[in-house]
Amino acid sequence: MIEAHHIVKEVVTSAGTLRILDDISLAVAEGEALAIVGPSGSGKSTLLGILAGLDLPSAGQVQINGEDITAMDEEGRAAMRARYVGFVFQSFQLLPSLTALENVALPLELRGDAQALDTARRFLERVGLAARWHHYPRQLSGGEQQRVALARAFASQPKILFADEPTGNLDTATGETINNLLFQLNREAGTTLILVTHEPVLANRCHRRVTLRGGRLLNGETALPVDP
Ligand code: ADP
Ligand code: MG
Repeated sequence: MIEAHHIVKEVVTSAGTLRILDDISLAVAEGEALAIVGPSGSGKSTLLGILAGLDLPSAGQVQINGEDITAMDEEGRAAMRARYVGFVFQSFQLLPSLTALENVALPLELRGDAQALDTARRFLERVGLAARWHHYPRQLSGGEQQRVALARAFASQPKILFADEPTGNLDTATGETINNLLFQLNREAGTTLILVTHEPVLANRCHRRVTLRGGRLLNGETALPVDP
């Protein structure tokens, strides 16, 4: 489903060239859930952005569904993301001027889906927020906002869901509810999941984990028990 070959990411800073990612290769099969763990600053978010086609590596190649996204122009990558990819971020990233319903419906409307509002309602119901459809993000708690973000991500039925510390801004109990929902939705849809997390419990719910340390992969081959 997704393959990364020898990814290097360098940025130029006032102190010289900084290598954020150093020769990362990995493959994730269709329907698999991979956890990316590692300390803060180890390059997890940078790697996720490159795998998802939001950012380009300095060297190396990423293939999604056999297509080399690192060879595409920005327009090509945007089209690929719209077709295959969903995101959930630590900071929710809802549009503040749109209601919950409009936030969920927007990506569907952008791709010309005539059923956008119906689908959005269905997914808000699925995350337990049917009654809050007309509320704006500022009127919702953090956990509720992340539910809206989950509804938005899954409503477009992505082949691959990228989640970057999705419960990082939530208290433990709320985070657990969101995690349960994330894995439930993921199982129902058979989505390939790539999850960045600090939490060992969450990483253990994935099929496999890799650890980043200073921009390098530690134990890329460590297999973990499969969550049925
Ligand atoms: P993580 O998500 O694991 O905390 P990041 O991928 O956000 O790590 O960042 C990895 C390292 O690269 C950090 O030290 C960060 O400060 C640095 N970094 C990321 N993006 C840039 C950039 N555009 N310019 C300079 N340094 C950056
Ligand atoms: Mg990060």
